[in-house]
Parts: sequence; C-alpha cells; structure tokens
Amino acid sequence: MKAGLYIVPTPIGNLEDVTLRALDVLRSADVIAAEDTRHSRRLLSHYDIATPLVSFHEHSGDGVIAGLVERIIAGQVVALISDAGTPLVSDPGYDLVQAAHAADLPVSALPGACAAITALSVAGLPTHAFYFAGFMPAKSAARRKRLLELSDIEATLILYEAPHRIVALLEDSQGVFGGEREAVLARELTKTYETIRRDRLANLTHWVASDPNQQKGEIVVLIAPHSKKTESPADPRALQLLEALSLELPPKRASQLVAQAYELNAKALYQHLLNRKNDDQ
Ligand code: SAM
Repeated sequence: MKAGLYIVPTPIGNLEDVTLRALDVLRSADVIAAEDTRHSRRLLSHYDIATPLVSFHEHSGDGVIAGLVERIIAGQVVALISDAGTPLVSDPGYDLVQAAHAADLPVSALPGACAAITALSVAGLPTHAFYFAGFMPAKSAARRKRLLELSDIEATLILYEAPHRIVALLEDSQGVFGGEREAVLARELTKTYETIRRDRLANLTHWVASDPNQQKGEIVVLIAPHSKKTESPADPRALQLLEALSLELPPKRASQLVAQAYELNAKALYQHLLNRKNDDQ
C-alpha cells in the first residue's frame, strides 16, 4: 500500500457493517490511530487484525499529530478510525487531516458507515437537500438559539443527541419549529433495538417523553424542512399578534417581532402573511 493517511469508517452498531477494503487497509496499515484503543480492539480482534494501535482523540496534542505525520513522511501507512462510523463526523480527525494536507502528504478516505446518512436514508424525509448540524449545545438557551439559526435552512436537518438530552432537544425543537413539523427519531440504528419513528414534533416529543426506553442508546433526530402546504407557522396566539401588528407595521417587521416573541421562524410568519394576502385577493 502507498504511504499516507487513510480515513477508515467502522460500524455504528452491527459489526458486519464494514467494507472489505476497510478491513484490508486496517490489516495492512503500519499503525491505526484510534479514539479509544480498548473499544477498537474489540472490532479488530473480531476480524483477527493485529495492527498496532495508538491513541488519538480530541485532547491529543500537537505532539501526537506531529508523530503521525512523521510516520507518513517516513513511508508508513497510518489508518485513522473513531469509536464508530466515519472519523471527523462529530469525531476527532480534522486537525490530523489538515496537518497531513499541510505537509503535502496523501490522504485517502474510504466510504462507509455514518449514522447521519443511515438515518437520512431510512427517514422518509426529503433528501434532495440536507444539513448535518451534529450535536446541539447542552444548555437550553444556547440550544434554542442554535435551533432558531437552523430554522432558516431549507433542508432536512440532521442532529445527533445524547440520550439524557433527547427530551429537552425535542421540546426545544417543538418550541422553535412548531408542533406540526414532521420529524424522525432514528435510534440504535443497525442494532437489536433499532427504532425509526416518524411523526409530528408534538406527538414525537410526547411519545419519547412518556417512554423511558426511547430515551436510551444512540439517537439521530431529523427535522423536515418547512412545508407550506401542510403546516401553519405558529400557534393561534402568535398568528393573532401577527395579524394585529401587520395592520400597523410592514409585514417583514411584524414577522420579526412575532418571531422574537414566540421563538418562531420569521420567514415562515412572513410567508403566512403573504399567503393570506393572496387568499384575500
Ligand atoms: N462518527 C459517527 C458517525 O459517523 O455517525 C458519529 C460519532 S458521534 C460521537 C456519536 C453520535 O452519533 C451518537 O450520539 C448518535 O447521535 C449518533 N449515532 C452513532 N451511532 C448511532 C446508531 N447506531 N444509531 C443512532 N445514532 C447513532
């Protein structure tokens, strides 16, 4: 094999979800840089791979990166894996890839398992445009602010979440996108308790909040883009205020004020005003 850095995806649950080429690269590499070497040893021993492992995680300093770059310069094959799925996708690796490029070294990526893409492909939500947003901030105010920013994006949103924060994420999403918005919970993908549930955010939040089993394991949340046909933009009080303000203010300003007051999408409110005006004509 040619010297270089190889980015190698590993399974997100089912150990069989690894490509023949991935196994080949892991077997032939001089060293495997792994997030948690004990965790990865299980996968490697399942496939009888005895390649030496070195620890590489988000707190690895520049010294570790420099050491791996030196190995490649010396003609070695370095494979990068994370605990699960595709390295660099909400996982370490970005600094290492940057360093390899900066040193003009070859970098190859193998295609493979990724929870975001697996969830998207099963969700039944629009796929022509999607936006991977990773983990939301842990604190509620910051999370709502981030969700509000995301609400302007006209694409299916893909979020990762830890099980102990899933109810809070769904509640905040309902507050920002409205309870009618279609969403999907994709839990424990490829594993024994795989669960895919598609529903409106209000129902999905209620379902997850009232069943502790749905608050366990690994979870991807997908939120559909706004649908003008099936969705009213807000609760009735927000719409009443919007109507009242639009009599006194330009539609854009009225929409912004109501969006701020009710933590809603200003664009959707503005569209609501335009639709209503067209209906009136
Ligand atoms: N690099 C990984 C990838 O390619 O998907 C993601 C690593 S990130 C640290 C872990 C998060 O990914 C989990 O908290 C969860 O949101 C999501 N995830 C990973 N495996 C999953 C699975 N089997 N089912 C659902 N979500 C999963």
